[in-house]
Amino acid sequence: MKITILTIFPEMFSAVFNNSMLKLACEKGLLAVDVIDIREYTKDKHKKVDDTPFGGGAGMVMMAQPVFDALKKVKSKGQGLIYMSPKGKVIDEEYLRALSKRDEITILCGHYEGVDQRILDYFKAEEVSIGDYVLTGGELPAMVLIDSMARFIEGVLKGNESVEEESLYMGLLEYPHYTKPREYEGLKVPEVLFSGNHEEIEDWKFEESLRLTKKRRPDLFERYLEDYEMHLSKAKKKIVEKIRNES
Ligand code: SAM
Repeated sequence: MKITILTIFPEMFSAVFNNSMLKLACEKGLLAVDVIDIREYTKDKHKKVDDTPFGGGAGMVMMAQPVFDALKKVKSKGQGLIYMSPKGKVIDEEYLRALSKRDEITILCGHYEGVDQRILDYFKAEEVSIGDYVLTGGELPAMVLIDSMARFIEGVLKGNESVEEESLYMGLLEYPHYTKPREYEGLKVPEVLFSGNHEEIEDWKFEESLRLTKKRRPDLFERYLEDYEMHLSKAKKKIVEKIRNES
């Protein structure tokens, strides 16, 4: 997938694309990322990219000219524009899965009070939010969007990792994890994990997932049971009953 990012703070992106999963995805050729500095396109002699809002009000607005020129140069025809915005649709699993299937995306990061509305109208931007809170700029939201979306691209996660097992994507919060040593500061790893009994371990993971989800996200717990309880094995139904009756 080709990702083009337009921003006035291009250096912020080096941290995410030069480390960890996204770096590997780029090295494997699964992602090709181009970070465009909007400031390079301004015709203002002081390199200004923002101005005061018409009609008054607080803050500054990103001007149409530099963003228009940058977008006209880099965006290919027919390729959608995503504008990171708290006014947009909040991302969820369904949106991320669909996005991960696209060949190319262009992401515009706003700053100050946001961008001149004419940019969004002209380029028919799709406004996308990472949640109901406001950040200072669209750079961090763009990173969140790219990271969470890339995990759905085949080959991005290592062979033994699966997005399907993550919290939320299987309808429940994930069970707790432990690694070596078996005992640390007197704290022990649950015995069942050393049993070598695959079925018992799977049941334990299911039980822990259910318990955690019921406690922290009762909404998800109820939805999971509504959607899947009837399809569960007898043994799993028994575990559900146990958790349901726990106070
Ligand atoms: N005045 C804007 C409003 O009330 O909708 C908020 C502007 S915010 C301070 C600056 C920029 O941060 C926005 O243009 C947007 O690109 C980005 N941003 C802030 N919160 C965001 C969120 N929850 N999701 C996506 N982008 C966000």
